[in-house]
Amino acid sequence: MIIDGKQAAADLRKTLAIEVAQLKKEKNITPGLTVVLVGEDPASQVYVRNKVKQTREVGMLSNEIKLSAETTQAQLLEQLERLNNDNFVHGILVQLPLPKHIDESVIIAAISPHKDVDGFHAMNSGRLLNGEKGALVPCTPQGCIILAKKHLGDDLSGQHAVVIGRSNIVGKPVALLLLQENCTVTIAHSRTKNLAEVCRQADILIAAVGRPNFVQASWVKSGATVIDVGINRIEDDNGKGKLVGDVDFTAVESVCGAITPVPGGVGPMTIACLLKNTIEAAKANT
Ligand code: NAP
Repeated sequence: MIIDGKQAAADLRKTLAIEVAQLKKEKNITPGLTVVLVGEDPASQVYVRNKVKQTREVGMLSNEIKLSAETTQAQLLEQLERLNNDNFVHGILVQLPLPKHIDESVIIAAISPHKDVDGFHAMNSGRLLNGEKGALVPCTPQGCIILAKKHLGDDLSGQHAVVIGRSNIVGKPVALLLLQENCTVTIAHSRTKNLAEVCRQADILIAAVGRPNFVQASWVKSGATVIDVGINRIEDDNGKGKLVGDVDFTAVESVCGAITPVPGGVGPMTIACLLKNTIEAAKANT
């Protein structure tokens, strides 16, 4: 089974559009997302454009603030202060990476945790760690769980999940979500010994490494559910750029039970979950 992330994201957006319409009608609330882009990184520009478009499509308010690459940390903090105090802004997303002279951790800490729809603020990661309700959970990890459930159904309890990668953005939060789902969770990383053997134990294998076609067919247990988070740009045989994941899709497809493609897997779910977080923030704080 190929898990269709595009379709899953479209389905989620449909549900969200209904929720937005209800919020408008019944509570006079229009959830609003502001995306802040500093500099002209081409990939970031594409991501931001897609976020703005999809926010509008579900009927939410969308605002984009474009700042020059020379913007100082103090100027960015001033913008965030203003957005934190703006009642029409329910979600704030500062597109990463930021230019080198700006400290990302300072910026993330300056976003109100109630508007931190990326879920990167320490208060939200702490709440996720504690299993508390009300945490804004990082979007890509949420998308991974939704996609795994497309194949396995809602009950993931008892499944052995192996996550390759331990970043704060993907690896750690997805491992915590899997734990909340009562999976047995192993987190692997660059120092893990016998990685192939560890991966072969996985009922659910999540690859968030950033290395093209890294996970081999011989690492995958027959019938496993494979969620490929990686987005890697490589050149094809004709010298043209193309996107591939962290999993050798063609080889693994014939061994596993289900797999997400790249593109068209986890990627589309990330933005859909961002919209979901903004609606949750709007409901919780108005
Ligand atoms: P990251 O911060 O670079 O983390 C990569 C992780 O992989 C690290 O924990 C690293 O281990 C581990 N790793 C690297 N080489 C390894 C090896 N040889 N064996 C085992 N583990 C290894 O990356 P990230 O931000 O988590 O992103 C991972 C991938 O997901 C990237 O391709 C990124 O583009 C993609 N991504 C996609 C989405 C989406 O929407 N689909 C969103 C975010 C990220 P150490 O900790 O030991 O260094």
